[in-house]
Amino acid sequence: MKSIEKYLSAPEWLIKETSGSEADRNSIEARFTLGNGYIGSRGILEENPRKCEPGTFFAGVYDSKGAHTSEIVNAPNPVDFKIRVGGEKLDISTMDHLSHEFILDMRSALLYRKTIYKNVEGQRFEYLSIRFFSMDNKHAAAMRIYLTPLDGPCDVFVEHQINLDTFNKGILTEGTKRHIKIMEFSKEMNSRARYFRTETYEYETSISYASILDIDLGSKKIKENHRTFGMKLKKGQTVCFTKYFSFYTSRDEDAANLSKRIKLFKLLGGKVDGTGSPDYLKKTLSLQSPANMKLVTVRNLKNIYRKGFDGLIKNHIDKMSEKWNDSDLVICGNKEDQKAMRFNIYHLLIAGNDEDDQLSIPAKTLSGEGYSGHIFWDTEIYILPFFIYTQPETARNLLMYRYYRLEEARKLAKKRGFKGAMFPWESEAQGKEATPEWFKDVVGNVIRIYTGERENHIVSDVAYGVCHYYNATGDEKFMRKYGMEIMLCTARFWASRVKKRGKKYSIEHVIGPDELHEDVKNSVFTNYCARWNIKEAVNYYYYFKRMHGMEMKKLLAKTGVTETNLKKWINIADNIKLPPLKGKVIEQFDGYFRKKYTPLRKFNEHGLPHIPEHLDDVVKIAKTQLIKQSDIVMLMVLFSTDFDFETKKKNFYYYLKRNTHKSSLSPSMEGIMAAELGELKRFYKYYKAAAFMDLYDVNKNALDGVHGASLGGVWQMITTGLLGYRIKEGEIHARPALIQQWSGYRVKMKTGEGSLEFNISRKKSCVKFISGGAAKKKIIYLYGREVMLVSGREKKFRPEKYW
Ligand code: BGC
Ligand code: BGC
Repeated sequence: MKSIEKYLSAPEWLIKETSGSEADRNSIEARFTLGNGYIGSRGILEENPRKCEPGTFFAGVYDSKGAHTSEIVNAPNPVDFKIRVGGEKLDISTMDHLSHEFILDMRSALLYRKTIYKNVEGQRFEYLSIRFFSMDNKHAAAMRIYLTPLDGPCDVFVEHQINLDTFNKGILTEGTKRHIKIMEFSKEMNSRARYFRTETYEYETSISYASILDIDLGSKKIKENHRTFGMKLKKGQTVCFTKYFSFYTSRDEDAANLSKRIKLFKLLGGKVDGTGSPDYLKKTLSLQSPANMKLVTVRNLKNIYRKGFDGLIKNHIDKMSEKWNDSDLVICGNKEDQKAMRFNIYHLLIAGNDEDDQLSIPAKTLSGEGYSGHIFWDTEIYILPFFIYTQPETARNLLMYRYYRLEEARKLAKKRGFKGAMFPWESEAQGKEATPEWFKDVVGNVIRIYTGERENHIVSDVAYGVCHYYNATGDEKFMRKYGMEIMLCTARFWASRVKKRGKKYSIEHVIGPDELHEDVKNSVFTNYCARWNIKEAVNYYYYFKRMHGMEMKKLLAKTGVTETNLKKWINIADNIKLPPLKGKVIEQFDGYFRKKYTPLRKFNEHGLPHIPEHLDDVVKIAKTQLIKQSDIVMLMVLFSTDFDFETKKKNFYYYLKRNTHKSSLSPSMEGIMAAELGELKRFYKYYKAAAFMDLYDVNKNALDGVHGASLGGVWQMITTGLLGYRIKEGEIHARPALIQQWSGYRVKMKTGEGSLEFNISRKKSCVKFISGGAAKKKIIYLYGREVMLVSGREKKFRPEKYW
């Protein structure tokens, strides 16, 4: 009966925790998060031991009641199953245990646990559990628990619930708060199942749950409808509890994605004829109605229940396998580094949603309340590339999240006295600016936060994401219909954001990626990206106008832009103030060179620097050349072909000495540049810092959630960095390199027409094009030389550099 180990993947896919200690409990909870891009559930232990921090987050569900800003709602917790034996609670914090294994299976996205407890009388109990949140049916989860008294009979008392007593911790001093109220409760499925619906305060979003419990004693099945109940077990007798869950939120109907709509529509009892257009389905669906919420949630529970645990878990694991098939990055010859890479990919996979185009990924994914679940540039610059090249439909959804929030971005621009669309530095459900006014700085003091007003580069970061997606996938329909509108509105913002100073245009009062300097003028990163944003928008406009004149005309009418505007913008772009960009160290912003040089002399065990002790507040730090992360390195990574090797090298070393890496976004970018420069030792040092950021909790802050940007940055370290994979003027280029510490690596990159499989190793390197359609051939450039690939046929090549 107890055959749950059969679900576990091979050891290289497992992350184990065996201490059960309280010390890093919350950080493990974040690391062991389960999810499917719709819901994220922290990896807590079922008994909810002392200090445990449950977190159940529905992507896109935010509320601001009692909070400084809108925050992702910590919803009712389904993982709450308490068992007493002979009056004592089976609890890792309070009962002795002889052994404990808590395992995250990254391949199958499930948690497995085996604990052997020993009570005060010295009797042993074997406790096993497994749970998952289905990747196949994003509204479903299941949990199974086995209990066996090993030394004698016992009385068992069970208390299980979907815990409604959950709250958000809140930032700084605002205290804990509950964002939901309970609206309705009922018993369903002949009173065997429970249903309830809650609502958030601000947007009145419903979140509903239905659940049912099965009890199996081997020889008999017990029907038990109560939340608490007792039973007796004989020595060696095993009881198995299986609990099924169904969840919906009233925002589920918002997605335009057809497959999602059809599923929902069918659950409501509708019949889909023909293709069932999204608009038709949208009109006929409404989850604003409590009755429909119940119908959908309970029907889904019935379907899950009918399928049973084995069926459900099989579908889930199959779906995860599909995802891994597209997204795995294999590192050969170093098990630890391989595991870390997969850990990063795992968290990306469970954060992305391939069904819903109203969702983006928060800075801490759905694994914690850090940064209140807000969406930053982390998504477009760090996370998006992974999805572009492995799960393009999810990448598209991430960009559609921004597209649907253009209206809010326009409002924000207007409010701040600008034109076009200004995406907020920190975005929430509606796309409103959600940056808090006060927060802790890098040395732990509470300070006034200006990023919301000044970290404007987010606007061009979104535009960059749009172009990156289009260039890599060739999804022209997306670009014309949605991407172009984002491009024009963001370009327009920049054209209004500049200030004429003499013949040149300045951008003042900004914060660049280096947030240690908070009010700067002519940040090179910002100015460069603004210039690029304007030029790219105008170029694309004229490019599409040739073949799709009417469509572009309509777009101009819709956005209120004229061709005269475009001409003016180009003039602005050509005259945006920028220092010389060739051969020299680039001054990060006006006056940066005049700041004080402060050497970094102390380093932690990961080789990352400490900020000198005398710099104990941000005002003091801002007077120095110390940076949080490097604007210039970032720029040279994003616009690699615009900078020559010497310039890259000079800037890399100059800023390296000044970089505190106090942003988790820093090490991965430094690593990519190190790889480009052939500095493979350094590359590896940054790989260790970034890839293990959460796995080893390098910054001691994983408890608030894993670092989304770093996850994506790690993947880019290999693909953009080591493999040198880049798209230049529509052509794919690669310059594969390998480091001493690995014997090889393999990665698959989707191209729009199919995919390219790279297999780099010391002995043999090759690349294969697998066509996904009509194209049978593909030209790529290896080390700058043209190579013709025939679909399905391996092309061997001799690596040239950096071995
Ligand atoms: C981050 C900013 C952010 C602020 C408030 C800081 O730690 O660096 O980017 O806006 O917190 O959330
Ligand atoms: C970084 C920002 C980042 C934010 C959220 C901050 O510490 O400086 O660049 O967007 O964290 O991850």
